[in-house]
Amino acid sequence: MARFTRNMDWGFPRWRAYGQERQAERVRLCDHEGCDKPGDCPAPKSPHSNEKWWFCADHAAQYNKNWNYFAGLSDEEAQARAREEETRARGYRQSSHWGWSGDDGGTAAERQAFAVLGLEATATAAEIKSAYRKLAKTHHPDANPDDAQAAERFHGIQKAYDLLSKRPAK
Ligand SMILES: [Zn+2]
Repeated sequence: MARFTRNMDWGFPRWRAYGQERQAERVRLCDHEGCDKPGDCPAPKSPHSNEKWWFCADHAAQYNKNWNYFAGLSDEEAQARAREEETRARGYRQSSHWGWSGDDGGTAAERQAFAVLGLEATATAAEIKSAYRKLAKTHHPDANPDDAQAAERFHGIQKAYDLLSKRPAK
């Protein structure tokens, strides 16, 4: 459940009030900005998430009334949260099979390019071209309108093909 683990630190659990660093670290506080009451009312962070905010009774009521992804956050917190999300997304992409780091054009990059295209390193130019065309078609963003990762995969496939097709003949 990597996704669940990654989401565990997703929000801003507040275990104490701002400016009271040394105090009451074991008390979960209301997640609402500036609120120092104990947060013992769970509220889902988004409609399809198991993640929860923990609010005091007052802020739980307010949150439930005024449903919003960034409800209860100051502008600064909302921006920080968006940045965190971006960082996580980048990390996820880098660790994925489609992630691409082979910019040096060296042997490791070639190996990675062959792997992206699902080929052995002994593949011929014709096989490389054929694999590229097939994958590019399958993973083209236009063919995957609901898959946010398709563009990333497509880009990786293109880079792999670029690298392998421009390689000097051996
Ligand atoms: Zn509160």
